Amino acid sequence: MRSILKALKSGKVLISDGGWGTFLHQLGLGVGECPEIWNVTHRKEVLSIAQSYIDAGSDMILTNSFGAHPLRLEHFGFQDRAFELNEAAASISREAAGDNHFVLGSIGPSSAILMMGEVSEEKVYDGFRIQVEALSKGGADAICVETMSAIDEASLAVRAAKEFTDLEVICTFTYQKTVHGYYRTMMGVSPADMISAIKEAGADIIGANCGVGTDQMIEVVHEIREADQTTPVLVHVNAGIPVIQNNVTVFPESPQMMSMKMKDLVDAGADIIGGCCGTTPEHIRAFIKEIRG
Ligand SMILES: [Zn+2]
Repeated sequence: MRSILKALKSGKVLISDGGWGTFLHQLGLGVGECPEIWNVTHRKEVLSIAQSYIDAGSDMILTNSFGAHPLRLEHFGFQDRAFELNEAAASISREAAGDNHFVLGSIGPSSAILMMGEVSEEKVYDGFRIQVEALSKGGADAICVETMSAIDEASLAVRAAKEFTDLEVICTFTYQKTVHGYYRTMMGVSPADMISAIKEAGADIIGANCGVGTDQMIEVVHEIREADQTTPVLVHVNAGIPVIQNNVTVFPESPQMMSMKMKDLVDAGADIIGGCCGTTPEHIRAFIKEIRG
């Protein structure tokens, strides 16, 4: 079995991939369309994204399954196809990754807010179970629970991955800077609280994704490292905060702008670096050039 933890033992920084959502829209995914149905209706396009990141030099790539929790698929009427869509997502990325690159099965929030009591914990947990089992069957090497903001939900996803697969588990939260200058998720979770909760749930790798550009992500990693010096840290950094220009969403940070700060991100304590919204294969190429020379 491929092990990311083992690969990190050499001390080498590993490179993940860049944005998927923005890439899918570029290839024609409509606004309000379900991205994960493309795993069966537009397999070739989804495969081309995975392949682009492998070609750019990524050591690992994600899967097109971020929104494939049954509760989220329900918005499109696809809740009964969760297993199929997650398995297809993993098999597409596996095909691109071959034997020498890692596939991280992406799991985003379920869209249910547990704190509000809209749905039961069991229902959210069952959905994560379907996702992790299908991603594992499709060929994922690890599960990447990402863009989380609530501890209870993130813990359920991590626990499901640990209980129903033997894969390594990554869990990243999305932080924003508060007016007081420190970082919290939308649900008010601090990096320190996140780390202790998800490590207890079984996470092997911790980190942050989305929400902020490179400068702020460096600060986030510093905060994570203040709370935990030993657990490997993965970051997927946005190409800045999107702005609307002439009705088009534009991400302000170019490959060159971001790559200039890669050494600082590594010095802050990141072990695995990739991009989130707005980043492209060109960003990944620039990161690799900067980090590996
Ligand atoms: Zn993002």
